[in-house]
Amino acid sequence: MAEILDGKSLASLIHEEQAEKVQSLSPKAGRPPGLAVILVGEDPASHTYVSNKRKACHRVGIYAPDINLPASSSTEAVLETIDGFNRDPAIDGILVQLPLPPQVSKEQVLLKISPDKDVDGFHPANLGRLVAGEPGLVACTPRGIITLLDRSHIPISGTHAVIVGRSLIVGKPMALLLLNRDATVTICHSKTHDLPHITRQADILVAALGRPESITREFIKQGATVIDVGISRGLDGKLKGDVLFEDALQVAGAITPVPGGIGPMTIATLLDNTIDAYRNHTGLIK
Ligand code: NDP
Repeated sequence: MAEILDGKSLASLIHEEQAEKVQSLSPKAGRPPGLAVILVGEDPASHTYVSNKRKACHRVGIYAPDINLPASSSTEAVLETIDGFNRDPAIDGILVQLPLPPQVSKEQVLLKISPDKDVDGFHPANLGRLVAGEPGLVACTPRGIITLLDRSHIPISGTHAVIVGRSLIVGKPMALLLLNRDATVTICHSKTHDLPHITRQADILVAALGRPESITREFIKQGATVIDVGISRGLDGKLKGDVLFEDALQVAGAITPVPGGIGPMTIATLLDNTIDAYRNHTGLIK
């Protein structure tokens, strides 16, 4: 039976550590860290994500003003809002919740965020640094997965890591982070032939394909670490991962649940990225 990697408990512990850091750094900096989470429109799932992010900020003492723009906002209006926060010295991080309404250009919006405030790590400047193996702000979900592996004492160097999914948000940065930590990395996608044959070679299997419960025991090597990034809501209203949990539990060595696995780690990492950007802006380097 696999060990369950409890991302929720670990994220909670990380939030306590973050609160201590913020408390000790704020007097030196003369201000707390600041994160602007910008929500455009009324998408209910986005509302929940944004509210969870803002709550986490308040819990650790990060200043997080509410910025809710109407669904009818133009690209220019969103760019202007971002520009204001780019110039605001009380703000260290800017996050624009995706997806955006169809009339707003995602590309222009993500490019507008100043790379030193790009706590989602989606700006080409930060993606380029990641490719080059240089320090920079890294996408929250993949960085959170590395933190979970490290704090669970799961070795990365020399392992074979297989990632299912090649998005810019999860799959690609995940591959680069694992590669930068000396894993041998294989990336799979919708055109990959005989997926189970490849995933069964993985010591670390990251499922980020967005197909609920599609990774069954046939895809998993005995004793592998299985990281389930997927979040989908089933017809019964329950959250489901990309891995068939009860089935995978029988063969995996360690596995993350959904909910309570990678989701909370993603939020904890957003705050880590904000604190990193704050240290950079205030000169309070580690
Ligand atoms: P995308 O839809 O952008 O990417 C999905 C990737 O999976 C694509 O590369 C696609 O291949 C690949 N894929 C789709 N179907 C298959 C298949 N049958 N076999 C192999 N590969 C396949 O999704 P995201 O990366 O944004 O998100 C993935 C999942 O993770 C979603 O469920 C999302 O909700 C969740 N998520 C969770 C987060 C968290 O905090 N826990 C954060 C971000 C995302 P191709 O490129 O060929 O189309």
